[in-house]
Parts: sequence; C-alpha cells; structure tokens
Amino acid sequence: MSNKPGALYVVATPIGNLEDMSPRAVRVLSQADLIAAEDTRHSATLLRHFGIDRPVVAVHEHNERMKTHELIRKLSAGQSIALISDAGTPLISDPGFNLVRAALAGGIPVVPIPGPCAAIAALSASGLPSDRFAFEGFPPAKAAARRAKFEDLRTEPRTLVFYESAHRIAECLDDLAAVFGRDRAGVLARELTKQFETVRSATLGELSDWVRSDANQQRGEMVVLVHGLPRDTGQKIDAHADRVVRVLLAALPLKQAAALAAEITGVKKNLLYAHGLGLARSADSGSASHDK
Ligand code: SAM
Repeated sequence: MSNKPGALYVVATPIGNLEDMSPRAVRVLSQADLIAAEDTRHSATLLRHFGIDRPVVAVHEHNERMKTHELIRKLSAGQSIALISDAGTPLISDPGFNLVRAALAGGIPVVPIPGPCAAIAALSASGLPSDRFAFEGFPPAKAAARRAKFEDLRTEPRTLVFYESAHRIAECLDDLAAVFGRDRAGVLARELTKQFETVRSATLGELSDWVRSDANQQRGEMVVLVHGLPRDTGQKIDAHADRVVRVLLAALPLKQAAALAAEITGVKKNLLYAHGLGLARSADSGSASHDK
C-alpha cells in the first residue's frame, strides 16, 4: 500500500511505550511528503527511532490557524501530509481540529490511523462502566471554574474521563471528592504503558487522601475517571437489597452479583452494580491497585 496523494493522515503515536506504534503508522509517516508535528523536536526522537526521515513542519495550538492555509494548499497540490501530536491521538486534547475541518471543507480526504489514546486506555482498564462515557479533557486550572465544571457534571450518569496534569492532580482530586462526594467510585490511571504504570480504583475520598500522602502519585501523566451517577429510578437500596448484594458478592464477580440481585430484588441492575462497587471498594481499599 502507498499513501493516497492529496490525503491528510491523522496518525496516533505511542503515549509512552514505543512498542505501541503500529506498523501502519510507521508506513504512513515514512511515505508522507510532509509530517505536521505538534513539537518538531519532541517528534524527532520518535521519527528517528523508527528510521523515518521526512520533512517536518510544526503545527501547534499557537500557529495552527495560520499553518492550516499553507497545508491545505499543499494537500490540494497532491501532497500527502501526516499529522501527529506529541503523544497519542491528534485532536484529543491536542491540535489538529482546524486543519481537519478545513481539509474536509475543501473536499480533501482525511484518513485516521488509529492507535494509542490515554483516555481510552485508562477507560479500558478502569473497571468502570464503559458502554457509555463522557470525555471531558482537562478540567479548568482555576479552582472556582474547576468546581463549577464539576458541579455541572455531578449528576452525569455516564463514566467521566478527565485528563489532569501532575501539578494539579491533588487539588483536582480534592475538588472531585468535595463535589461528587467522597464515596463516589473513581480511578486514577497514571503513567500508562510506562515503567511506573498504576491503575488505582478507590472512592474519590480515598484517591484524594492517597495522592496527598504519596508524592510519587503526583508525578507523570494521568487520567482520572469518575463513576457516573446512576439515574434516579426512585428505587433505593433497602436493607434486603443490600443484604442480597453482599451475599452474592461474597461468591460472585460484581457484574453477575448485580444481575442476580436485580432478578431477586427487582431493583435496577445499575443501581445494584454501583452499590456493589462501593462495597467492594471499601472492603478492598488499599489492595485494588496494580503497579507495573
Ligand atoms: N492526544 C493524547 C491522547 O490521545 O491521549 C492526549 C494529549 S493531552 C495534551 C496529554 C494528557 O493526556 C496528559 O496530561 C495526561 O492527562 C494524558 N496522558 C497522556 N499520556 C498518558 C499516559 N501515558 N498515562 C496517563 N495519562 C496520559
């Protein structure tokens, strides 16, 4: 296969582990007439590692609008251009949106080359419901705006996925626990695919205390996930439902326990699942992380 002339390729690159680079990504980059990279120096290391020697131009949040015209001209003249960001999938909290929109508006084919994405990697290993989720990118940096944003999301039923930087993770978790409640289930996924990969499941209160008490957990790159609020069906977990979940949970995995408990009690499975998750977390606190 060779690159289509005049096509824009949106190429995902590793989020840490170079083994995650797909052979297709390597081929597309090697055949591109031009690589548009968020940071040319950063990407030089990746390109060198894979023996890719193509012209590279910088396209980042400060010059994307300006560069878009130039790149669209080149694409229209038949060049094949590959867009990469510093890590992961371009456009996902990364530059590229203007370029892709302009390409599509100009009838230029846009071809995704899928691969790593921290949000999806974290979700896939989180154990939180993944049938529906909401990616929220980075929460606002300022405390008041961040809390207001969390307030807006407090009753969201889908799993919430946030990116957060190392130097704000402690404050972010404090605010999540304050707004969503210390008992809401969450996951901190740190340094995915790298040496110190950690995926920790706990309540938001426990995550916040843990990160505050261990400076190592405030290093590197991280994704924070929050269990959605089960829709209020008017149903409550009464003493009977609580007992049924506890008994089943002692013998069965959570999903099965919730499904059976729903049949026995008539209470919604999602509500029982969330209740069971809370029980499992409190029984398990401290032992539910895996460090690689
Ligand atoms: N486009 C990228 C993607 O597809 O994941 C995300 C770019 S965004 C500027 C960078 C943020 O992604 C980091 O601050 C962190 O929240 C998250 N991230 C990137 N790599 C990660 C990793 N290896 N482990 C955990 N989170 C990561």
